[in-house]
Amino acid sequence: MAYRSVKTQLTRRAALFAGGAAVGAYAGSKLGSNVPSVAATNSMQPIGAEGTLNDASLLSETPVAKHVILPDNPSEVMIDKVRAEILEARDAGRPFNIGAARHSMGGHAIPRDGTALTYDNGLVEPDHREMTYRVHAGARWSDVIAQLDRIGMSPKIMQSNNDFGVAATFCVNAHGWPAPWGPMGESVRQIYMLRPDAELVRVSRDEFADLFTLTMGGYGLTGAILELEVEMVPNRRLTPTFQKMPSREFAPFFVGAIEAGDVNMAYGRLNVDRETFFEDALMITYREAEDQENLPPVTGSGFMSKAAARVFRAQLMNETAKDIRWGFEAILGPLIGAGDVTRNTLLNEPVKTLDDRDPTRTDILHEYFVPPERFGDFIDVCQDVIPASYQEMLNITLRYVKADRESVLAYAPGNRIACVMLFSQEMTARAETDHKRMTQELIERVLALGGTYYLPYRPHATGAQLLRGYPSVRDFVERKLELDPDRTFRNGFWDTYLEPLA
Ligand SMILES: Cc1cc2nc3c(=O)[nH]c(=O)nc-3n(C[C@H](O)[C@H](O)[C@H](O)COP(=O)(O)OP(=O)(O)OC[C@H]3O[C@@H](n4cnc5c(N)ncnc54)[C@H](O)[C@@H]3O)c2cc1C
Repeated sequence: MAYRSVKTQLTRRAALFAGGAAVGAYAGSKLGSNVPSVAATNSMQPIGAEGTLNDASLLSETPVAKHVILPDNPSEVMIDKVRAEILEARDAGRPFNIGAARHSMGGHAIPRDGTALTYDNGLVEPDHREMTYRVHAGARWSDVIAQLDRIGMSPKIMQSNNDFGVAATFCVNAHGWPAPWGPMGESVRQIYMLRPDAELVRVSRDEFADLFTLTMGGYGLTGAILELEVEMVPNRRLTPTFQKMPSREFAPFFVGAIEAGDVNMAYGRLNVDRETFFEDALMITYREAEDQENLPPVTGSGFMSKAAARVFRAQLMNETAKDIRWGFEAILGPLIGAGDVTRNTLLNEPVKTLDDRDPTRTDILHEYFVPPERFGDFIDVCQDVIPASYQEMLNITLRYVKADRESVLAYAPGNRIACVMLFSQEMTARAETDHKRMTQELIERVLALGGTYYLPYRPHATGAQLLRGYPSVRDFVERKLELDPDRTFRNGFWDTYLEPLA
């Protein structure tokens, strides 16, 4: 049964490629050549040429004029250095852009032929009375967790991994699995930034409020953030609960659990084997344990994460391993990983735990924000589109995102289920073409459900899809141009999607 089903899927996929080959052969004969083109199998592995920057997709190698790394604490000296770089780039007609970990996958933190700036400073200063911390724009979440853990505190909202920059997180307005929050911007009280005219401003909901909501989720196009004031919450010892259910029943269970108010962290998973693709769901909720005394210091990836990562990678092209991984997660995980754990330890997971260590492949993320009442339709869409592609899907994580009514480029105008997908992609032109086709189809179908897609990933959406998914994007571009008429703050996201609207 498993074999027949898998074979059916492979046949559909093979048909897709065979179709491509037939077209190629036809085109070849029209061009008077009998030699089929092998260009599609050419590697897209990065060369790593000097003077280039890349991002986590490894598919965005881009030349830059210079890359400046600034280790300074927030101070007049640092401000002067950043200001000088902005003005130099502007006078030379070059783009300027700041990046942190450069994990966004469409060159969102890379200015083509311009000045790229990276901060190397992890300053974090907690203020217990205000329940906030002052943080250098370039600090990573690992820096924040390490500092806050010492005083029994924890970041209120961050992504699933600790490698990302804090200002960068604000600039994509990322979300995570701390519940019941919306995107991270809602936990930011104020920021200090240099506007594109190199003027230093304090920006919050009360001062320059327009610039605050434009910069939140504004992909670094509105100025250079220097430091932020961000809310923290108490660190807690948490107890997990695992519940299995049919995937179509997931949304009401998940939303109900989170809206009940006692869940501190939560996520869901779906099975990814091709035979029963997306039929089963697992919901994992963490609630505060009774005993909150003597919390242990934060740790990094535990045995479970590392073991899970090995099982995770074994799934590549291996349906049996996908079954085993689901069993590991849905049956073994609850049995052996069900112990209490602190909130900070859950948040302190580096991306590298999942590293594939395969230079011929790369991990590509997608994310879709789906209205909970359309989640069943979303399952149908994914069952139609994903197994029929050549892409190897290794994981999907589901999260709850409360409505964001602040940022101009909001991806969750209402409460949403965030569906984060991870694919392992061969680094060839044919895989890239197939991935793009599949992504556009998924986006099209998710837009029809009243959902949208996430912007920091591969630039595969069409311009028309961006306009439908983010109806305020023209307003964003207009306001950015008022702020930055010389278009000094530019990056791959601007060049691909926003310049054509300018
Ligand atoms: C493995 C993985 C897991 C992920 N998990 C999640 C998740 O759970 N939830 C989620 O929402 N997203 C997730 N993402 C997406 C991720 O949150 C974004 O790509 C995020 O931007 C990455 O942080 P970074 O430090 O790499 O940012 P970068 O890619 O370096 O920068 C992001 C943007 O911020 C701007 N920027 C950075 N610093 C500054 C500054 N000081 N001033 C002005 N602009 C600045 C950059 O110009 C750029 O446009 C994930 C991505 C990966 C690869």
